[in-house]
Amino acid sequence: MSRNANLTSVDDALAHLLSQARPLTGTEPVALTAALGRVLGEDITVPLNVPPADNSAVDGYALRYDDIDPERTMAVSGRIPAGHAAAPLAPGSAARIFTGSEVPPGADTVVMQEQVEVVSDGIRIGGEQRRGQNIRRCGQDLRQGERALSRGTLLRPQELGLLASLGIAEVQVIRRYRVAVLTTGDELVEPGMPLAPGQIYNSNRFTLLGLLEQAGCDVVLCETLRDEREATGQALLAAAQAADLVITSGGVSVGEEDHVRAVLESQGDLSLWRLAIKPGKPLAFGGLARTPILGLPGNPAAVLVTFLVVATPFIRHCQGRTTPRRPAEQLPAAFSIEKPSIRREFIRARKEWLDGAAQVTAYPNQSSGVLSSACWADGLAMIPEHTVVSPGDTISYYSFSDLME
Ligand code: AMP
Ligand code: MG
Repeated sequence: MSRNANLTSVDDALAHLLSQARPLTGTEPVALTAALGRVLGEDITVPLNVPPADNSAVDGYALRYDDIDPERTMAVSGRIPAGHAAAPLAPGSAARIFTGSEVPPGADTVVMQEQVEVVSDGIRIGGEQRRGQNIRRCGQDLRQGERALSRGTLLRPQELGLLASLGIAEVQVIRRYRVAVLTTGDELVEPGMPLAPGQIYNSNRFTLLGLLEQAGCDVVLCETLRDEREATGQALLAAAQAADLVITSGGVSVGEEDHVRAVLESQGDLSLWRLAIKPGKPLAFGGLARTPILGLPGNPAAVLVTFLVVATPFIRHCQGRTTPRRPAEQLPAAFSIEKPSIRREFIRARKEWLDGAAQVTAYPNQSSGVLSSACWADGLAMIPEHTVVSPGDTISYYSFSDLME
């Protein structure tokens, strides 16, 4: 691992984390109505052509192209409402047809009703017509036998619709990833309780619960720990036994009250703990009772950033997801970074429009304790290590929605 002033680079840390990630294999059946946000646990092969037959894209008349003659009245021999089987077309005639109705055998073209004049004994066709127009072909959406969706796909509303279009009512999904959340600190008080001198409210707990819910995880345990070695050790072990992953906040610096790191060092194993990331330098990754433990920093903005940058790729991998995260957008900065840092910096930022062009603005106070920076922001600007930025320079911007999807 490349280290800089004893810091581990974000790339090295991510590579190490992903090398340790064990994707879940267990699947469970769920009805489509309960499958939103789950990860598909099987490959889906198309069982039937979609649409199952040629059908009309418009309201109009189905006919044989070669029978079109603007000088002649054409008899209307049939009517095919959507949902009914189409009888063969009588030669030389047209059939009234509606959007979604099956095109009758013998017809090869549909003429829109707007281009048809209805007369007493049939129809007269005007305008320009093309052979084969206005027909949605059998199998144009999906062909029988091809792969519709692959294992590892996140099921969004459109995937649920696609599965339904195949007649599938239930799918195998990968079981939910179980996470335990431990926030640490003698100073923490739960919201709703009075605050004594020296105390602060526990915000990380709620940030983390929200992030994990958005990531589709099951939070199986959530506790707040006192800064006490013995209790921290016991709680970590219990959490490790209950969950696929334990996420902690706080207690991973080098102070004597930082017991998470100390417990991992003595009772488990500790892979890394000083990361070249800003905000968020103190970060631990280790294992206890064969369960990975990710020790995030305590500062609230650092919790958000390290979760999105470091924890999310690991969790996605363990969830069995196979689609990569969307890459950054390259946009001009509307701010400057004058001092280069040995750490990769993630700036709470906004994509804004100025005279029709997008640019990235930064929240003025980027302190790792300032969570309002993240509420103002709609994403993160990434400033590589050893880099200065002047206004107008191209930088990488990640929207929160892309980072959280
Ligand atoms: P630590 O790494 O435990 O020294 O925490 C670093 C900073 O983050 C300290 O100012 C803590 O008070 C603060 N902090 C730690 N945990 C939380 C939490 N759950 N909610 C809000 N702030 C926290
Ligand atoms: Mg602490």
